[in-house]
Amino acid sequence: MSQDFDIAVIGGGIMGCCTALELARSNMRVLLIEQRALGGGTSRSNMGTLLLQTHRLALLPYARAGYSFWQDLGYEAGFVAKGSINLAFAPDEAALLERRTKLRQDAGVGVEMISLERLSELEPGLSGKPIAAAYAPEDAAVNSNRHHQVFTKLLADAGVHVLENTGVYRISVEDQGVAILSAGECRRVKRLVVASGAASGGMLERMGLGLPLQTKVLTLSVTERTQKRLSHVITHALGALKLSQTPIGATLIGGDWEGLPDERGGSGRVDLDTLLPNLRLAQYAAPYLNDLRLVRSWTALEAVTPDAFPLVGSVVHDPDVYVLAGCPDGYLAGPGLATALASRVLERACTFDVSTFSPLRFQASALAGA
Ligand SMILES: Cc1cc2nc3c(=O)[nH]c(=O)nc-3n(C[C@H](O)[C@H](O)[C@H](O)COP(=O)(O)OP(=O)(O)OC[C@H]3O[C@@H](n4cnc5c(N)ncnc54)[C@H](O)[C@@H]3O)c2cc1C
Repeated sequence: MSQDFDIAVIGGGIMGCCTALELARSNMRVLLIEQRALGGGTSRSNMGTLLLQTHRLALLPYARAGYSFWQDLGYEAGFVAKGSINLAFAPDEAALLERRTKLRQDAGVGVEMISLERLSELEPGLSGKPIAAAYAPEDAAVNSNRHHQVFTKLLADAGVHVLENTGVYRISVEDQGVAILSAGECRRVKRLVVASGAASGGMLERMGLGLPLQTKVLTLSVTERTQKRLSHVITHALGALKLSQTPIGATLIGGDWEGLPDERGGSGRVDLDTLLPNLRLAQYAAPYLNDLRLVRSWTALEAVTPDAFPLVGSVVHDPDVYVLAGCPDGYLAGPGLATALASRVLERACTFDVSTFSPLRFQASALAGA
């Protein structure tokens, strides 16, 4: 048993790594525990796009902070400010796109509606099917496959003690602190951050803290490599498509298409009923994909709350237990949310006001309904 650490963070995804980093940079002795390798969950299997033009308005300040975090890492994280183009294929989608673009412009996001001529200049590889498009030149992408490499170095430099391949299977809140059971060892800390992605809900539930975190299974695919055919990240006004060609020429194909749950507790399974429409829409938008073979399709888990806003804050006081989970497009907003949570832990002033994302909003409604 050990009490050498001021705080433990469970989860080596973007939320856990960035929180641990912030805390260690403020001189806390931090232990980070990850059941696989760093980024072994969704943070390494996601698409790595950093899109301000489609990000939810209430999360924009965090998205901007995340954007700067990745931009500062630059080449190391595979950061490329390639721009993004959001497409509409039908009149109702075009009307939605115009409304959303105006709202983003009012919030200071660099995005504009462009003509179809400009669209074909920017992306000659797209089909003639879109009827409207919005262009955000500063939107970007990183290579999420580098998550392990990037954070291993950052965390080591900051002095975070990282335990990989160490699954936490029980946590109990005691008078003197929090006891964390993993791999036959029990560690006690005064403070704990649960940043375990889709597993966060189950972990809190086992501590007797019921929070409404559901799990969504999302699908991604990658094609074989080809010459450069897409310069920007391409998205769809209704979220049904996301395309991005990587620097080595493979095309990533995503969108809001759900896979199937994996009863054995893995990261879900590909569902042909959703994969095929996803691929058809990709070919409809970018016909060059017709000539390419699909190399792999996979699924990854996302934690979602009923209002689709993250859980950021304290769930138990003295000893202190915090949670950071359930953010849509969390690879972008994660670093900013982690800064906000770390400020709460450190009781220091912060420009972000995360009180609206407090887990108490659900605990309070649960109490009211009881
Ligand atoms: C298919 C897909 C594509 C996406 N594309 C994008 C995108 O382009 N841009 C964007 O911004 N966002 C994207 N996202 C969202 C983004 O990937 C997630 O919001 C983000 O990665 C969540 O980070 P996290 O740290 O909360 O979770 P995770 O990355 O899942 O990290 C949680 C970690 O906790 C560990 N863990 C769980 N249980 C335990 C335990 N008992 N003991 C120890 N460790 C444990 C897991 O192994 C895991 O590594 C995408 C999501 C999906 C599913």
